[in-house]
Amino acid sequence: MPSLARFFDKAALAASQAIRDFDRASFEATLLASPVSLIIGDAAGRSREGQACAGLAVRLLARLYPVVTVEAEDSLRDHLHQTARSIHPGITLDSAEPPVATIVVGAPDSEALPGEAVFVGSNGWTASISTTSPRSVGETANPFGAGAAACFAAAAVFRSVFSDVLPDLPPIQDLTVSILRPWAEDPEADATGVPDADLEETHIVGLGAIGNAVVWALSWCDGLAGRLHLVDGEAVDLSNLQRYVLTSDADATDKTAKTALAERHLADSGLDAVPHDQHWDRYLNDVPDRTLMRVAVGVDSPEARVAVQASLPRIVLNAWTQSGDLGVSRHPDFLDAPCLACLYLPDGERPSYSHRVATEIGLPDQEPRIRGYIDRRKPVDPDLLSDIATANDIPTDELARYQGQPIDAFYAAFVCGGHRLRVGGAGPTREIDAPLAFQSALAGVLLAAEIVADAGGLRSADTPTLTRADVLSTPGVFESDTEPKGLQGRCICRDDDFRARYAEKYEVQLR
Ligand SMILES: [Zn+2]
Repeated sequence: MPSLARFFDKAALAASQAIRDFDRASFEATLLASPVSLIIGDAAGRSREGQACAGLAVRLLARLYPVVTVEAEDSLRDHLHQTARSIHPGITLDSAEPPVATIVVGAPDSEALPGEAVFVGSNGWTASISTTSPRSVGETANPFGAGAAACFAAAAVFRSVFSDVLPDLPPIQDLTVSILRPWAEDPEADATGVPDADLEETHIVGLGAIGNAVVWALSWCDGLAGRLHLVDGEAVDLSNLQRYVLTSDADATDKTAKTALAERHLADSGLDAVPHDQHWDRYLNDVPDRTLMRVAVGVDSPEARVAVQASLPRIVLNAWTQSGDLGVSRHPDFLDAPCLACLYLPDGERPSYSHRVATEIGLPDQEPRIRGYIDRRKPVDPDLLSDIATANDIPTDELARYQGQPIDAFYAAFVCGGHRLRVGGAGPTREIDAPLAFQSALAGVLLAAEIVADAGGLRSADTPTLTRADVLSTPGVFESDTEPKGLQGRCICRDDDFRARYAEKYEVQLR
């Protein structure tokens, strides 16, 4: 009998944001009755690109689907099985039932493909997807096209399995796209390997879902050198397994530091990984002159992004996921181009944290009371738990275990961790940060590509500021554009003091 992973609450929460009229019981039933299959053609299985694509596909599928079958040459299949079991020890890896959805990497060895198939391939920086015929897999050691293809494929599988309950989506297009230049009309020109590149002193801030995928991609790149500073003060939590591609079940049990997890995956790379197990603001105190040559940002709030930009790195690269889209932004020049903070200027409409917590725990009219708990770091007490239980129509006993916890921790577990949904409460009333695994993974692959492109000298002044995608609706389609620099002089990049400090730090001309 197939079983759901023990971090399933979080998976259900993420899915509830994509699915209409989400119903937890039918979501579970659908998953348990939906074997999915991954087929790797023999030639693809012998190539680095095919192995990278298959590896990431398994890291994505095993986080949601309880039954995943793999067809590949024996040693590759055994390796992929091992990866799947490390994520979900109870996963079912053989099934007599025909798959509901099948991913085919490269050319399959048999013509007969049960279930709905999505064909993916790659060549260097390019990724290909088709619903009609097999795609080829290239001979390079470049993981970027392959990694993106795995994300497209996982999106297609999600669409197949949940076709009855997803909103109407446009049909998947057959296409090839370059991850180096998603705007390019000649993607084939990017069927090349990863350049040898010295990352010098590069930082990754935030080793959450996006940072995990950044590290995954960099770990597959040969020919990279330099120091990679890994900055994150948190440890792996069970709910992280839903979409952190590097994490295993054991990491949740051991509460592995996120920096240690990343360092472990980079051990065989040419990069010198330097873990900094602390939050960005603390870490900054240890940086001489706060000289930060290149910072890749995978943090999860606008406030944290603005804080990184305010520390004035020479170059900022950023990735995000949010309701409806994901993407990367490039900020090579604080003085003359849009900075990261330009993209996150408060628009006055974003609800405060206390409003958000009050609303999500079911007490929208008690924001002042909730703000009191947050501001004074007052632990959650029986009175509050009782009111929350009543508001959500669940037994008070269900919440007893949260008594004495800070309200932040309670909010994270009860709402963001999906507990409320499991005990029969409503789905989220507004967007909270719980993307599907393939959305975060694609954002991370894009961000890693930006790091390599920047370090490898593959970027120029006319590179667009932003590239975004809605990978669930239109897998493989990207939109890129150049944003205006901060409006109305409100941004820090229009502030004379910030500008002077940046110019002085990096010895650039202030115009
Ligand atoms: Zn700005």
